[in-house]
Amino acid sequence: MVWLASFWGSLELHSYPDEIFSDAAAVVSAVAPDEPIILNRPHAALRAARFFTEKFPGKTLYAVKANPAPSLLRVLWEANVTHYDVASIAEVRLVRAELPEAELCFMHPIKTRRAIAEAYHAHKVRTFSLDTTEELHKIVEACRNPETGAAADDLRLCVRLRVSSEFSELSLASKFGCDLLEAPALLQEVRQHCDWLGACFHVGSQAMTPFAFVQALDRTRAAIADASVVIDMIDVGGGFPSIYPGMEPPPLEDYFALIAQHFEALPIAYNAELWCEPGRALAAEYSSLVVQVDKRRGEELFINDGAYGALYDAAHVDWRFPVKALADNLRDPEVGFAFYGPTCDDADYMQGPFPLPGDIQAGDYIEIGMIGAYGAAMKTGFNGFGNAEEFTVADEPMLSLFRGDRQRPESDNVVSLR
Ligand SMILES: *Cc1c(COP(=O)(O)O)cnc(C)c1O
Repeated sequence: MVWLASFWGSLELHSYPDEIFSDAAAVVSAVAPDEPIILNRPHAALRAARFFTEKFPGKTLYAVKANPAPSLLRVLWEANVTHYDVASIAEVRLVRAELPEAELCFMHPIKTRRAIAEAYHAHKVRTFSLDTTEELHKIVEACRNPETGAAADDLRLCVRLRVSSEFSELSLASKFGCDLLEAPALLQEVRQHCDWLGACFHVGSQAMTPFAFVQALDRTRAAIADASVVIDMIDVGGGFPSIYPGMEPPPLEDYFALIAQHFEALPIAYNAELWCEPGRALAAEYSSLVVQVDKRRGEELFINDGAYGALYDAAHVDWRFPVKALADNLRDPEVGFAFYGPTCDDADYMQGPFPLPGDIQAGDYIEIGMIGAYGAAMKTGFNGFGNAEEFTVADEPMLSLFRGDRQRPESDNVVSLR
């Protein structure tokens, strides 16, 4: 089989690392890919990041898990995103290698001792989150000076509070977070181990109303009032929405305004900082995906990416990504298609419906938008499918929260490009 491998190897796609294509159709006509490809839009990520760094009334961290692509990290850094929410030692190493000056915040409430020690001693991480006394002691022990045994005096600790996910499309309420009843005691104990104490929460991903944050800040108020300790930072987490078919959130300015208003009313240090840590809202518009139809069966299209690739959410939580056929010879009215991914697993199925021209056939290409967050990042190599070459394109993302052409607020959500 050696000859076969080298034969196929010689057919591998060319690489176009520095080329900027106008759009998906231009890439397809240049390379006629028969594996899925990812199209990146640095201008869209830059615009989203500037929107947050200019308009959020505090500091914006990027939650790296949404999309750890080094190319995206560099764009965010260029847009003045200086702080990064990392959740594993691999993310710590990755961001430290790409952005040596970045401030890394280890915001997973359950970490191993070894991960904490490496983050603190080797990668200058000082900010850690926790939701139990057990984790507090792990952090304190792992950050001691290995020679003198002295406790670290520069820890910045952040107590993760449990809040409701009822306004969000994807819950994050059951796994992490200290119960409100236990929070005052934990805040008091943590305060004794650090000079900088924060409280953080996560309202769940794709929060469709700003009241998710209002409710969470009300809970935070109750916990910190009971604890009567000085709080130096409030981190409202992620959950800021992006835009998808059937999910059009209110303007992000509404979120920012309500957060600012309720933050001001908290009983915290007069110079307390406000942080947020969006993943989805910063990354969603960065990438789209181009797939090819391998086979059509009625109103089902067998495409070459799916549940184990960049379309995890389309399969597992019926997320509806925007779609567009790339052939311009298709004339029939749209039909709502379901997709099958390429692996041999029945679960590799996305029910959609995805509206595409009724005469779409095997061989045609489809662009699937808004996969920059929790899309490209979810790819596995299961069943031998998982390759995706990346290209840079210059056109607009299929949907955008930052283009300034949505109904509300008329022109206020425009951030100029340099
Ligand atoms: C996942 C996560 C985020 C990002 O959430 P989005 O909904 O993508 O904005 C932020 N903070 C923490 C602690 C997370 O786990």
